[in-house]
Amino acid sequence: EDLELIDECYDFAFKCHQGQRRITGEDYIYHPISVAYILASINADKETIGAALLHDVLEDCNITREEMEEKFGKEITKIVYGVTKINKLNFNDESEVLIANHRKIIVGLAEDVRVIILKLADRLNNLRTLWALPEEKQKKKAKETLEILTPIADRLGMNKMKSEMEDLALRYLKPDTYFDILEKLNQTKAEREALVLEMQDKITTLLTENDIKHEIKGRAKSIYSIYKKLAKGRKWNDIYDFLALRVFVNTEQECYQALGIIHSKYRPIPKRVKDYIASPKTNMYQSLHTTVFGIDGHLFEIQIRTYEMDEVAERGIAAHFAYKESATGQGKAEFKNQMEQKLQVFRNILELNNEAQTDEEFVHNVTEDLFKDTIYVFTPKGDVLELSKGSTPIDFAYKVHSQVGDKMVGATVNGSIVPLDYKLKDNDIVSIRTNQNSPGPSREWLQLCNTAQAKNKIKAFFNRIDKDEYLKNGEEILKEELKRRKIALSDFYKDDVIGKALEEYKYNNIEE
Ligand code: MN
Repeated sequence: EDLELIDECYDFAFKCHQGQRRITGEDYIYHPISVAYILASINADKETIGAALLHDVLEDCNITREEMEEKFGKEITKIVYGVTKINKLNFNDESEVLIANHRKIIVGLAEDVRVIILKLADRLNNLRTLWALPEEKQKKKAKETLEILTPIADRLGMNKMKSEMEDLALRYLKPDTYFDILEKLNQTKAEREALVLEMQDKITTLLTENDIKHEIKGRAKSIYSIYKKLAKGRKWNDIYDFLALRVFVNTEQECYQALGIIHSKYRPIPKRVKDYIASPKTNMYQSLHTTVFGIDGHLFEIQIRTYEMDEVAERGIAAHFAYKESATGQGKAEFKNQMEQKLQVFRNILELNNEAQTDEEFVHNVTEDLFKDTIYVFTPKGDVLELSKGSTPIDFAYKVHSQVGDKMVGATVNGSIVPLDYKLKDNDIVSIRTNQNSPGPSREWLQLCNTAQAKNKIKAFFNRIDKDEYLKNGEEILKEELKRRKIALSDFYKDDVIGKALEEYKYNNIEE
């Protein structure tokens, strides 16, 4: 029913961009239309779609703010000005300005969250047509996307958009890696698809027998998520969640029922069962996650969620568009309530923005709120490293390189020597002192570090040293104990016996 306003926006944008072409060769108007289309597909409201059509007109058309407000209303004008402001920023690769750029984008976000949703759609369309730019610019855009925009999309829970942007950015930033992963995936594609289909069949039968109405879809892992796992040091063969399924049911209760039914037939890996329904992620994501031993012993990652949860999982904050006007019923009312709370965070930031305070204070407060779990620190050369909050110099060292971590003997932060359990803060400049003669990390470090990456690398160090010895000792102890209990070795070394033991003690394999 709001087409009239959108028509007017389109007509104005069409006239304004007439004769202009994009670097892709097509008429310029295709860009605003595509951005508006992306936003329409997430059910954005009329103001956001209207603003999308108009988002590049300020550069080329003579129209004052007052005229625009009169023609299209205050809301649209505010969004157009917001996104134009962000787009005018000249992003720079120098790390010093990175945080400042964060801020500027967040200011746009703070004025109205729709500004940032529009900015994300604008960038998504630009990434889709990134092929037309010279390589250097492609890389710059891709890097900036991954450093600034996808973390914001993540914070807002806009996973679908985030995921497409990440894959596109990786394709231009690290084409070799990207196509390497793509090729490896293609090689195993037919086999994986067959396995997923078969498992899908089995689970459908199982759930239908138990009268649970549901739908199941196979799910492709994003290339970027695989890249991140590889970058964290995982080997291709160790990534065992390539086989992924998603089960949709109608109610929250059915989520748990479905999980129980699946577990009764397929044994789950204990540590991989996650209940994001009872404890949603900070961006409101809800689902049950489990990884089970499926057909032929293949591991399957299964997510179970309601259709409503799916809406939020894919669109995040943008899901509020769909519920804004038509909220009815308990679930929707609750959801709307949550959405309101989330939006309140942005309103608070807006208030912060209005109060007189230095840039530094502003950045600090806003990053505190929005990027709660992440800090940005610098190497002495000015490279930025992203770490989770609570990280110490040990995490920093292992993030730089395992060799730096393994040979670390001390750390300096902002010019002063700090203890290894020092909690790093945003903007800290961290320098690690190493000594090639250092015998290696101490076991105590496992308690002092915060990131999984550092823990894994420290464990890997000790594993290399200790593994053989432990294996030998373990085997001795086991043999003695079996002998004492008069159990034959051959009776113990059976798959089901060992499987049971591993499950009970929560280990992945007999060597562990
Ligand atoms: Mn644009």
